[in-house]
Amino acid sequence: MQVSHNYSLKTHNTFGFDVLAEHFTRSANVAELQRALAWAKSRQLPVFILGAGSNSVFTADVAGLVIQMDFRQLEFLAPNRTGAAVIAGAGVDWHWLVQQCLQKQRYGLENLALIPGSAGAAPIQNIGAYGRELSDFLTAVEILDRTTGDVRLLNHEQCLLGYRDSLFKSDQGRDLIVLAIHLNLAVQDKPLCHYASLAQSLDSAGIDNPDSQTVFEHVCAIRRQKLPDPAEIGNAGSFFKNPVVSADQLKSLLSNHPEAPHYPQNDGCHKIAAGWLIEKAGWKGYRRDRVGVHADQALVLVNHGGGSGQQIATLAADIQRDIEQKFHIALEAEPGIY
Ligand SMILES: Cc1cc2nc3c(=O)[nH]c(=O)nc-3n(C[C@H](O)[C@H](O)[C@H](O)COP(=O)(O)OP(=O)(O)OC[C@H]3O[C@@H](n4cnc5c(N)ncnc54)[C@H](O)[C@@H]3O)c2cc1C
Repeated sequence: MQVSHNYSLKTHNTFGFDVLAEHFTRSANVAELQRALAWAKSRQLPVFILGAGSNSVFTADVAGLVIQMDFRQLEFLAPNRTGAAVIAGAGVDWHWLVQQCLQKQRYGLENLALIPGSAGAAPIQNIGAYGRELSDFLTAVEILDRTTGDVRLLNHEQCLLGYRDSLFKSDQGRDLIVLAIHLNLAVQDKPLCHYASLAQSLDSAGIDNPDSQTVFEHVCAIRRQKLPDPAEIGNAGSFFKNPVVSADQLKSLLSNHPEAPHYPQNDGCHKIAAGWLIEKAGWKGYRRDRVGVHADQALVLVNHGGGSGQQIATLAADIQRDIEQKFHIALEAEPGIY
């Protein structure tokens, strides 16, 4: 097992923060992962599991052992009555997986194209975009339980997938390491394109009945146009979840701001656009130190270069406080802040 010491994570987080991992290794299979965990345990070191670092804000050097998941297996199973199973190792690049599935005529993931990160991190916050979520396809997750050392399969229900949420974010799930994800994809090419900006993009191109490849291309084009590329300006995508409020809270918001965008949920609650709240509060384009709020996307906090995770965390806390004061709505950060 190869362990690097005081290893820079600058190229392993999309904010580009220059922090060090006290110790760093990669694991490509269960035996390597178990060796790495035993190495840390024998030295009483904490362990941090890393994918591609696109949903992680490092505010300081990371103590202990950082294990980057490098499980790369990818299996396409024969179709059955309900679709076709695909099994992807935790270290498989998510966007590459989406492309491979399309090439093999396995459909559904096209709406989730160009989301940065690893397949293993996809269930952690139940990634979603353009009208789809991972939970629409996830049938099971292969995990290693750090407390017992057991390797087992969790089914869809056991993963407790919600809006940018899952078992893995809870206290009960924090010791579970995702080894692989099992998906059930469609073999019929019938993409879902009701999501407003996707439907508009197809419509303005004069496309009525798109195939999944066309949806994939439009999703990529919209994302490239709307979201800052971490290769050019450090960021972690949307920094805050869209808050879900009660009917009473919505009523009070609309009494002052009738134009506030809101979306009814199945349980009688309403989702509010966090980006609208942040823009309305005057934060869009705000800059402080080497960090700020993106000039075109109020939901995206950025590192202009040379900024730190601490600066981003402080800015995020200030925005949360301001939104709470102005709208009485609590914003929750989407990435993990460490
Ligand atoms: C430009 C940009 C756009 C984005 N757009 C979207 C979007 O549209 N929708 C969306 O949902 N997200 C989006 N994100 C967020 C991000 O892409 C996803 O959350 C992604 O799944 C993170 O993957 P990662 O491998 O980089 O995770 P990391 O940042 O490496 O890890 C995230 C968390 O998961 C844990 N983790 C990672 N791998 C494992 C594992 N194998 N087992 C257990 N725990 C693990 C880590 O410890 C950490 O707590 C965007 C990010 C960026 C930078």
